[in-house]
Amino acid sequence: MKSSEYWEKRIANGTWTTYNNLEEKNRALLEMYQEASLNISDELYRVSEKMKTSTPTLSDMHKFDRLTKLQKNIESIIGELGENVEKFYIDNATQGFKEVYKNVRVALGETDFNEPPKKLMEQFLRKQWEGSNFSTRLWKNTQVLVTNLNDVVTNGLIQGKTVTEMAIQLNNRMNKEFNICHRLVRSETMHYLNESAKSAYKDAGCEKIQLWAAIDERTCPVCGVKHGNKYSLRDAPVLPLHANCRCTYIPIIDDDVANNSHAIAKEDVKKEWQRRSIPDEQIKDKMKKNYETDMKQYKKYKEVLGEELPKSFDKFQGLKYNNSEEWGKVKDKFSEVFVTKDFDSIPSFHENCSNLLTRKWYKWHDENIPNLIDTSKTIQEQARQAHELRNTYRIQARDLMKDQEERKNLDTKHPNPSFEELIEHKKLKYGLSNEEAYVDIIRSSQTTNKKYDKIAGIKEE
Ligand SMILES: [Zn+2]
Repeated sequence: MKSSEYWEKRIANGTWTTYNNLEEKNRALLEMYQEASLNISDELYRVSEKMKTSTPTLSDMHKFDRLTKLQKNIESIIGELGENVEKFYIDNATQGFKEVYKNVRVALGETDFNEPPKKLMEQFLRKQWEGSNFSTRLWKNTQVLVTNLNDVVTNGLIQGKTVTEMAIQLNNRMNKEFNICHRLVRSETMHYLNESAKSAYKDAGCEKIQLWAAIDERTCPVCGVKHGNKYSLRDAPVLPLHANCRCTYIPIIDDDVANNSHAIAKEDVKKEWQRRSIPDEQIKDKMKKNYETDMKQYKKYKEVLGEELPKSFDKFQGLKYNNSEEWGKVKDKFSEVFVTKDFDSIPSFHENCSNLLTRKWYKWHDENIPNLIDTSKTIQEQARQAHELRNTYRIQARDLMKDQEERKNLDTKHPNPSFEELIEHKKLKYGLSNEEAYVDIIRSSQTTNKKYDKIAGIKEE
């Protein structure tokens, strides 16, 4: 008789592989959001160009219905994005559904079966779970997004912001939306793949299953408790159990075998809990001693990672000291996300960052400048815009530095040059024409000084 270990290898691993491959494809989502974000900035810059000002007022915008038109255009860009995301998800999910279905039936020893009918797969896509389904959730998010983006524009106009400042804010909102969408796609995919496995069991006449957690999830209190539990197909808990849950189902062919694997599963979970979550005295002391610094770190991480982080401080500390693998992932995620953060959204870091962290933040924002420049403008205007952004980031980076003494030094030694000063400098030093100087400013606004990168500890790639 085949053991749970066998089914884990044969079926659970298959589902996880399908999931990982789909997750790999999800990179395309980021591109979709970035493209939509660029299109939105373009719309904004186009209006500003027509009005011949970088700080349009609300009343100017009401003339000729400009605001209404701009908002309509934003709405249609986001609408199109929503349609693309929906199609992308449905194509991939359907592919995954077929793969998992086939894998399960073959694993159960069947060779002669039909592909799941298209109608059935569509039915599963529409079926509600936890009160909703993929499309409804996506379109609800999309509506909120449109409202938020329009608010950014309206508030920006009221507050007298420049179009560049508004474009940055819109871009930040879009980045946030990408994360929301990515999380949704991950959960929905996991759900859909598990529904596929269930329908394969049903079609194969296998009426009972065991819930099976991935090894690193057996310490999770939600999944660990259910790991190895036996259910009839109809009563099985709906998966995933939480965000990023990778639990799946394995079949029960023989009751004795299932009872045995249930016992083994419980023993396994107990061992994992003991190994990872009951800290020995040394760790407990460490947690106590580091309470305050950890608390500060928790608040800072929360600012950057939001819901990606454990909800409570206790859980955060538990993760930090008991689960080095997960903690490593959290730290990586933090470094990855922090650099992309808008200055205003990370108040805990103001005058509170190491030189290295500051430098990385600055480098990312500089390199992102091309994404924010309005390329429909003249080269001179583009250069001016690049230069303004560069200066803004330079000052913000200095505002991030913990070492404010050093900052004063930098301010004295390297004050922000005005646009005109910079042009003159380039013309004199390199013998460039005006036009060449503009191009050079655009080029150099995206490159940080290698010498300072090195001093701060950034390695060359
Ligand atoms: Zn789980």
